[in-house]
Amino acid sequence: MLEEEIKNEIKKCSRCALCVQNCPIYEIKKDENNTPRGLICKLNGFEKNILSEKEIKKDLKICLNCTKCKTNCPSKINTTLIFALKNAYFSPSKISQRVLLLLKILPLKILYFFNIFKHRKTKKTKSKISYFKGCVSKAQHKTTFLDNLYSNCDFSCCALPYLTSGDIKNYNKAKEKNTKIIKNSSLVVFDCASCLSTVKQYDTLDDNDKNKLIYFSSLIKKAKLKENSKYKNKTVTFHKPCHLDEKEFLKIENLLNSLENINYKRLENYEDCCGFGGSYFLFHPIISTKIALKKAKNIKKTNPDLILTICPSCTFGLRFNGLLSFNFKKIMEFRDFFENEIEI
Ligand code: SF4
Ligand code: SF4
Repeated sequence: MLEEEIKNEIKKCSRCALCVQNCPIYEIKKDENNTPRGLICKLNGFEKNILSEKEIKKDLKICLNCTKCKTNCPSKINTTLIFALKNAYFSPSKISQRVLLLLKILPLKILYFFNIFKHRKTKKTKSKISYFKGCVSKAQHKTTFLDNLYSNCDFSCCALPYLTSGDIKNYNKAKEKNTKIIKNSSLVVFDCASCLSTVKQYDTLDDNDKNKLIYFSSLIKKAKLKENSKYKNKTVTFHKPCHLDEKEFLKIENLLNSLENINYKRLENYEDCCGFGGSYFLFHPIISTKIALKKAKNIKKTNPDLILTICPSCTFGLRFNGLLSFNFKKIMEFRDFFENEIEI
């Protein structure tokens, strides 16, 4: 999105406030300055030279990039991308961008280091369907059934950490590389909602390319719980990552509901964020913890035996809120559930 396009997007805001009620930061802080509508108004004030960069920067940094405002905006404003890009334009120096990026990817580096001996070779396939393996799975050296089914292409990071730390140069580099692979693939399967939603907003992809981006579960037509699964007759729920759209969530729910021998139960307030937001908790620990505690209450009410989700960052977030609330539940990646518990 170019500066001119951002200005035009901002103008589309009707101040209806439909985004406000869904913003998890507003729920905690109750401050209009931190709502998507408030941020849009402030950016508008900046464009008109009424507000300075300094008066906006702090509020922009509090955004969790959960995309709930974008999803609920009737004017279809890409609020999340605008906030991230404006944040990047306002970032003062390359050094602070680098430090921010380093802090964001540090947990991945640590994960990589501790899992270095787990590496296993994958089978080569000639499939035109590509598997977009996210950075967390790569750092965990996880070889999944998707590695063996689909082409293990050399995708870069989806580039969300670059975008949110203001490193537009590397964001564009990763975007260009991933775009080339997507254009040469017939389909691209994802196992992470944040990766898919980030890639879907690349301006280098046309509608045809975007239609190729799917969750691996969309290709599963029939599934059955394994005879020896320990989740037979257990209550299973699904945490909806903020980056997973409602339509896809309902498809996943249908698939889980179709499984015999498990009791699928929708999580109380399933739309609520886990609060983790990638590395958000490192920079805003109080807000992040408050959101996580709210999630923990919902989990307690639902009382499942197993919680599934489709984002590694949410998996960590849910483990974190189990830790906070002493309400330990088994948390599993949706992909791993299919690999270990399901006959496809
Ligand atoms: S992306 Fe989420 S946290 Fe950020 S302004 Fe929108 S609703 Fe609020
Ligand atoms: S929902 Fe969209 S149009 Fe309404 S106030 Fe929020 S950003 Fe503006």
